[in-house]
Amino acid sequence: MPSSEKLGNFTEQDAPTYESVLQCMRCGFCLPTCPTFALTGRERSSPRGRVALARAVAEEKLEFTVAVKQEAFFCLDCRACTTACPSGVKAGEVMEVCRSQAQQQSPPGHMASSFRSFILQRMLPDPDRLEMSMLPARLYQKLGIQWLVRHAKVLKLGPSWMEKAEGMLPALDAPLRPQEPEITPARGEKRGRVGFFLGCVMTLMYPNVSRQTVRVLAAQGFEVVTPPSTKCCGAPHLSEGDRQTARELALFNLNLFMQTEVDFIVTDCAGCGAALKEYEELLESAAEHDRLVVFREKIRDISEFLAEVGLRTEAMQLINKTVTYHEPCHLCHAQGISRQPRELLKQIPGLELREMNEASWCCGSAATWGLKFSRESQQVLDRKLNNVSQTGAELLVTANPGCQLQLAWGVREAGMTQEVVHVMELLGAATLDG
Ligand code: SF4
Ligand code: SF4
Repeated sequence: MPSSEKLGNFTEQDAPTYESVLQCMRCGFCLPTCPTFALTGRERSSPRGRVALARAVAEEKLEFTVAVKQEAFFCLDCRACTTACPSGVKAGEVMEVCRSQAQQQSPPGHMASSFRSFILQRMLPDPDRLEMSMLPARLYQKLGIQWLVRHAKVLKLGPSWMEKAEGMLPALDAPLRPQEPEITPARGEKRGRVGFFLGCVMTLMYPNVSRQTVRVLAAQGFEVVTPPSTKCCGAPHLSEGDRQTARELALFNLNLFMQTEVDFIVTDCAGCGAALKEYEELLESAAEHDRLVVFREKIRDISEFLAEVGLRTEAMQLINKTVTYHEPCHLCHAQGISRQPRELLKQIPGLELREMNEASWCCGSAATWGLKFSRESQQVLDRKLNNVSQTGAELLVTANPGCQLQLAWGVREAGMTQEVVHVMELLGAATLDG
């Protein structure tokens, strides 16, 4: 997607290619699929409008203006427009590259810039530091300070994103990465050896999900290698327009997993999976093409992998629950994986899957979008929760930690009763030990 040559009013480093903005034939098929167009009815906030803005910059009809920057960050990068587009236009990816342009052409002020560098360049690339940074949050919960803060409603005095961010914190346990063995042996007849890519949000916020993923893989006959030095996949950096740090992280993970002898590389985080599958594009001038192709061919989302190899269901126990499934954008639109999580759910004995309307419509999380645009995020979330309610399901299932955080918060705030779980938590609960 990014071009290495100077294109119109884009800077040379990390600009969209001309082809990527030229493909749009302005048919409008994407318009009904775009959450920000649904919110605003504004052409410039639609996929077609965004690509037209980027094209105007490429053709020197427009400077890289504040409006282009705003639309780059207002785009959820949900990729719903890519699924709908008959011409293969990737408006979300074009906007992702434009975020990098925004950082170059219109950088934030000193304070914002320092904070951004601290998070993106010092914290996220360092798993040890990241884990240490969660200790105050765990103490905050364990010592009952969270209870006091919530009951005294003190965060209502601050900006709305702060109250929402605090409200989204799940009950925190110790990070999974230091606890998980590097090698987990296969149980029963061995079917292969897989690498497990443990994502940052998973290890910090949802350690039980990834614990269950490794356990289920082992129970399904796979030896699991979880390299403890795995770093962030780079998705948060791409989302914030820091493509250089994303490239450094991608190169590190590429080298790490290419040295690990595994048949496949599996992740249970849709955001990580989408980023890993796009390393080929991100690193095209920084790594050997053949290695990138081999790496890309090995990446699987956990549901994609288990559906592909076939689930052994003979030793599964009953789960008598009704569930509905929310499709993470980075699973269904970015990776084209819709059928597989449903197939797995349907194979759990006793489980009844009730389809919701608009299952593939975004939940309004989208990395930090849900905090930056909290009012709009609430509107997108309300639409989703209304569809969830109509199913009457007891559980709301998804496959991405960002969605899980947003949905769990939304369900609680709305006074709904559904527990929000990952597909792997259900498969883990159905999988017997021994
Ligand atoms: S982005 Fe695709 S679907 Fe949307 S107007 Fe352009 S060609 Fe049509
Ligand atoms: S990625 Fe999502 S929010 Fe962005 S233009 Fe496409 S449909 Fe709209």
